[in-house]
Amino acid sequence: MIAPARRAEISDIKSAVRALCDTFGEEYWRELDKDRGYPTDFVHELTAKGFLGALIPSAYGGSGLQLLEAAAIMEEISRSGAHAGACHAQMYVMGSILRHGSEAQKQQYLPKVASGELRLQCFGVTEPNTGTDTTNLKTFARRDGDVYRVTGQKVWISRVEHSDLMVLLARTTPRDQVARKTQGMSAFIVDLKASLGKGFAYQPIPSTINHHSCQLFFDDMEVPSENLLGTEGEGFRVILDGMNAERILIAAECVGDGRYFVDKASAYAKERMVFDRPIGQNQGVQFPIARAYADIEAAALMVEKAALMFEENQPCGAEANMAKLLASEASWKAGDVALQTHGGFGFATEYHIERKLRETRLYQIAPISTNLILSFLGEHVLGMPRSF
Ligand SMILES: Cc1cc2nc3c(=O)[nH]c(=O)nc-3n(C[C@H](O)[C@H](O)[C@H](O)COP(=O)(O)OP(=O)(O)OC[C@H]3O[C@@H](n4cnc5c(N)ncnc54)[C@H](O)[C@@H]3O)c2cc1C
Repeated sequence: MIAPARRAEISDIKSAVRALCDTFGEEYWRELDKDRGYPTDFVHELTAKGFLGALIPSAYGGSGLQLLEAAAIMEEISRSGAHAGACHAQMYVMGSILRHGSEAQKQQYLPKVASGELRLQCFGVTEPNTGTDTTNLKTFARRDGDVYRVTGQKVWISRVEHSDLMVLLARTTPRDQVARKTQGMSAFIVDLKASLGKGFAYQPIPSTINHHSCQLFFDDMEVPSENLLGTEGEGFRVILDGMNAERILIAAECVGDGRYFVDKASAYAKERMVFDRPIGQNQGVQFPIARAYADIEAAALMVEKAALMFEENQPCGAEANMAKLLASEASWKAGDVALQTHGGFGFATEYHIERKLRETRLYQIAPISTNLILSFLGEHVLGMPRSF
């Protein structure tokens, strides 16, 4: 249950975020999408106003807000027509440092991340040959005196070119030498700029959305041992601990996308005249929009429930995953309805629907695909047999 005073504060936060987004406008995003550009000015403004440092405690220079407020920020960015995917990772990657970093690491990084002096927009987990089977990853970090030497490859790692730091997951003990496959991996804070050309290279991946994803190559890249995040061999836990917040924030983005599509579709349905009447007067046009609205509002309740449980430190893996599942499917369906409502104009880039539809589609695949969520629910919540 959210107290009325907190609801009012969240509403104020959304108004402030919307005002900031409106100074950029949807054309800004269309141009970036066309040229595959990065919203540097937007991210700068968002950071300067304290929104991107929302979850960083005030003791480390952040805004010290909670997950519900952070989710409201991501939702409103998406609802405005902007592409929250350009900057969302900073909201949750910093959680790894906050929860697992040493006090020295927190002091070193978090204030600079909050001020924008350092950008922490990047996390490197996925690999080309292992995909969703994360514990099978091959990138290896070998301890050599005061450094780890990292060799391997990552794929689909987003915002590498627009981040100073990356949280990297690598094996430090081969999988066949640990009792459980989740053991023997470690997380590191990698200084991307310092490493570039010194055992680290990247290659952008051309793709249907403007997500700035790259393939990464590590060839004996040195990472100072003090950049180990948490305990050696327990890196999977470092990554896993951040996943619920990540899922909830992404789900909030999807709610924002869904509300954007419903806003656009209902507005267009009211004004577009065909056969001498607004198309929204036809139930064949009206009902799908109304259903999309209902689906989005239902998903929003699950996002809220998951966020509140997260804030109360309750186990919320099931709720966070269901929020992401329901919101990503509802936003995609709402986008499809918005496209259909706009008829041929839905395909015109000036209406933004096709861009937003491409952007929101990602969230049924990343950061975790729908099937993997269903398998988590089937096995861990419903007690059915493990399938893999
Ligand atoms: C634009 C973009 C940005 C990304 N950004 C990042 C990033 O910043 N950092 C990062 O680490 N990763 C990133 N990713 C990677 C993303 O997390 C993965 O793509 C996602 O986890 C799925 O992994 P995969 O692509 O290897 O699919 P695969 O694991 O190859 O799976 C392919 C399909 O098979 C299904 N499948 C696989 N195994 C099973 C099974 N046992 N049962 C049922 N179905 C199964 C999956 O659900 C999926 O639909 C990004 C991806 C994209 C596309």
